[in-house]
Amino acid sequence: MIDRNTSLLYSMLSRILWPVLFAAGLVGAGVAFETEAPLVWFNAVYLVIVVAIALFERVMPFERQWLRRDGETLNDIAHTLLNKGGVQIAAALGATAPLAIATVAHPMINGAGQIWPHGWPLLFQVILGLIIAELGLYIAHRAAHEILSLWRFHALHHSVERLWVVNTGRFHLIDSLFKIALSQLPLYLMGAPLPVFLWIGAVTAFIGLLTHCNIDVQTGPLDLIFSTPRLHRWHHSRVLAEGNTNYGENLVLWDQIFGTYFNPNRRPPADIGISGRVANGFVGQLVQPFSSRGFRQILGRRTPADDEHEPKPHT
Ligand SMILES: [Zn+2]
Ligand SMILES: [Zn+2]
Repeated sequence: MIDRNTSLLYSMLSRILWPVLFAAGLVGAGVAFETEAPLVWFNAVYLVIVVAIALFERVMPFERQWLRRDGETLNDIAHTLLNKGGVQIAAALGATAPLAIATVAHPMINGAGQIWPHGWPLLFQVILGLIIAELGLYIAHRAAHEILSLWRFHALHHSVERLWVVNTGRFHLIDSLFKIALSQLPLYLMGAPLPVFLWIGAVTAFIGLLTHCNIDVQTGPLDLIFSTPRLHRWHHSRVLAEGNTNYGENLVLWDQIFGTYFNPNRRPPADIGISGRVANGFVGQLVQPFSSRGFRQILGRRTPADDEHEPKPHT
């Protein structure tokens, strides 16, 4: 571990790591997109960034207690593969549903809408695409917190008691599909071209990894634009008034517009999680929201029927 109090190296790394890792991911993605096998190479870049983040989590952790094992690592990886896979080939490769869906689905519906500004430089098209996609992500994420029938799926993500790079992709499949539909459909309908989808997929992938990282990064003014680890740690708070904020996945623009941006000048909580309980295994976690008993467990509500199934404490 690097000494956080005295080391110049520590304070320098804490300031540059977020932008450097994000930029490295994007440069790698740019190279991957120019190859014959963009998905394969993109996944290779993704894995390199995962390993780099995991290493920095060991040497300069934000919360030391989040380094302790929680027994959920394999479940986290299984949910990540199922979600990000989407289609079988991408699942086997391991990381990129938005890219896979864009590659497979886009040619079929190309030409549906022609209001997209195809003449703009690609950078501006990607920024426009990110802002539009982010509105769908914001609505889906906020709805998942405010509507109980959707929270039953999103609670899996919030059930973690530590934040680190590996639980970035821990989402229930239904939660992910809902989010992808709301964020990508408007772009399809407007006729956005394939490179815009690819770059949005890349930005989302790398910001997502960084958002959950347990590295002691200082993001300063970046907190005003991007969804940074600092903002997302508040989002995982057990306190509802703190947790029902910062819904942005890549950008925080819509949080600022709709008044859910939250970044007080104090340390975010180390004790995170939900009041209910999610099932233990991967399959159990997938099916739990579909039964009324599972739903009650997720909400942390008990009924006499639950008590009958559990051993009585000795008095
Ligand atoms: Zn959430
Ligand atoms: Zn999260």
